[in-house]
Amino acid sequence: MNSNQYNKQIGIITKVSGPLIVAKDMKDVQMYDVVRVSEKRLIGEVIELRDDLASIQVYEETAGIGPGEPVYWTNEPLSVELAPGLIEGIFDGIQRPLDVIYQGSGDRIPLGIDVPKLKRNKRWQFNSVAKVGDFVKGGDVLGTVQETTAVLHKIMVPPTLSGKIVWIFNGETNITTPIARIVDDRGVTHEVPMLQTWPVRRGRPYQKKMAPHAPMVTGQRVIDMLFPIAIGGIAAIPGPFGSGKTVVQHQLAKWADADIIVYIGCGERGNEMTDVLNEFPHLKDPKTGQTLMKRTVLIANTSNMPVAAREASIYTGITIAEYYRDMGYRVAIMADSTSRWAEALREMSSRLEEMPGEEGYPAYLSSRLSEFYERAGLVTCLGSEGRIGAISAIGAVSPPGGDTSEPVSQGTLRIVKVFWGLSAQLAYARHFPAIDWLKSYSLYEENMRDYFDTEVEKDWSQIVQETKTLLQEEAKLQEIVRLVGVDSLEFSDRLVLECARRIREDFLHQNAFHEVDTYSSLTKQHGILKTILDWFHLSQEGLNNGVSFFKLANMEVLEQIGRMKYIQETEFKTQYEEINNEMNEEYQRLLKGDEDDGERV
Ligand code: ADP
Repeated sequence: MNSNQYNKQIGIITKVSGPLIVAKDMKDVQMYDVVRVSEKRLIGEVIELRDDLASIQVYEETAGIGPGEPVYWTNEPLSVELAPGLIEGIFDGIQRPLDVIYQGSGDRIPLGIDVPKLKRNKRWQFNSVAKVGDFVKGGDVLGTVQETTAVLHKIMVPPTLSGKIVWIFNGETNITTPIARIVDDRGVTHEVPMLQTWPVRRGRPYQKKMAPHAPMVTGQRVIDMLFPIAIGGIAAIPGPFGSGKTVVQHQLAKWADADIIVYIGCGERGNEMTDVLNEFPHLKDPKTGQTLMKRTVLIANTSNMPVAAREASIYTGITIAEYYRDMGYRVAIMADSTSRWAEALREMSSRLEEMPGEEGYPAYLSSRLSEFYERAGLVTCLGSEGRIGAISAIGAVSPPGGDTSEPVSQGTLRIVKVFWGLSAQLAYARHFPAIDWLKSYSLYEENMRDYFDTEVEKDWSQIVQETKTLLQEEAKLQEIVRLVGVDSLEFSDRLVLECARRIREDFLHQNAFHEVDTYSSLTKQHGILKTILDWFHLSQEGLNNGVSFFKLANMEVLEQIGRMKYIQETEFKTQYEEINNEMNEEYQRLLKGDEDDGERV
């Protein structure tokens, strides 16, 4: 931002209440305009206007600021900068580059700092795609920049511009120098640099939104097979502290079938954020073998920033996600956690003296949550190419005490289509991922059934259905066992318990830190589960034919089934067949053996 843009003083502070400042003489300002507060030029945003009084949410520490001090005008809404340089970036909630700020000023961000959001001096090789004489419109690709080894950045015509290219550049340049000149139909010439800006609170336009229909494969078995998320889908992970939210999000960031990752860390305590900043850059991208940052944008609210910056961070994140979606990429955006974000909303609302709703959250909590999640989805992008892009959004929710009846969890559940409920009990029992199979759901299952059955394995949905039924039966049977003991059960029911245990231990349990187990392809997932169910079906038949329950429950092949998840992808098919052959042979021996020695159950 150019300093003379906010030279004009327009208001006088009348009240300071933490991150909220009220100023008078503000009638010319617009909602969501950025202002600079006091001589310290603190960055703020107008969030309420009443006559000539403006309430300003200030993104920096307001200690020492008092009534009578000036407020300066920028006449710009809170916006993000969009250009090469976003990927690998670590920004705060209003897109200030944390690395640059930290390098320049120790580990506290100085007040009112004017650092450009994206580097101005860095030069990028722009390879033009469009030609002089082409008629272009919003979303058309002018050229490309290899932003990192993993991301080809497409420089697009800004959404609202169309016209004829009269000049186009090819070569190395920075993001503010024009790379094309476009004359619109009124004859006005527009100089187009790579850098564009977009207001964070307004969704970027697209041609058409479509219903998500294909899965975003994550390699996490409990997710892909039981509770899948679609490309362009929205999911929530609620769970108490320590239940594995962060590990699930990291696993998704690493393995999900997405081109770009936008990770928004809204931590409360400083060390939570330091964790993100320390851990994320060290995550390795399994697709490229390089750091995951080569296709990641990280937004982190550090502890020394006021709550207001948290409020802005999810909008900053989703706007960046939309920009990459517009290039035709599949973006996964993760917000960790939306509870911290909602608390910021609550604090601002109470300072605005608004009428509190449930548990002190403002009445508009739900609509704000849906405004965020609605910006996800599968779309046909602007531009004549008809590119398809997607944003899949995953929000962690950390309800106090793990109680999901509180407003943020409830508000989120009304919107999202996938719910991965983490359970403290499962985490305590070291069953990871601690996704509770009895509480979780995916409303995309129906839409994606066709995809799984035709593109992956024809009995996919049948197997999934049977697995869910078995797990539910297990829960019922366990109640009985608790009351009267396992010996009172029929052997057929004990077989159900054995099978469910195998499903839990050999299939659902997945160690994120094991080299092979960390990711399973869909074929492998299906193979493991099918083998367990095949064993179950054989055993049911065996029981009916008089084979001992104990022999069936202790078949030697079960040990191999238990190790299937550790089989390398490349060897899986062969070993799957071997294990299945052995299972059938062993079963035949049991049938025959039991006949021979006449043993009966
Ligand atoms: P939260 O973010 O909910 O507080 P974390 O994601 O930090 O919880 O998980 C807490 C701990 O649980 C981790 O440090 C790790 O030891 C264990 N854990 C969680 N998920 C897994 C997993 N999939 N595989 C192995 N260990 C896990």
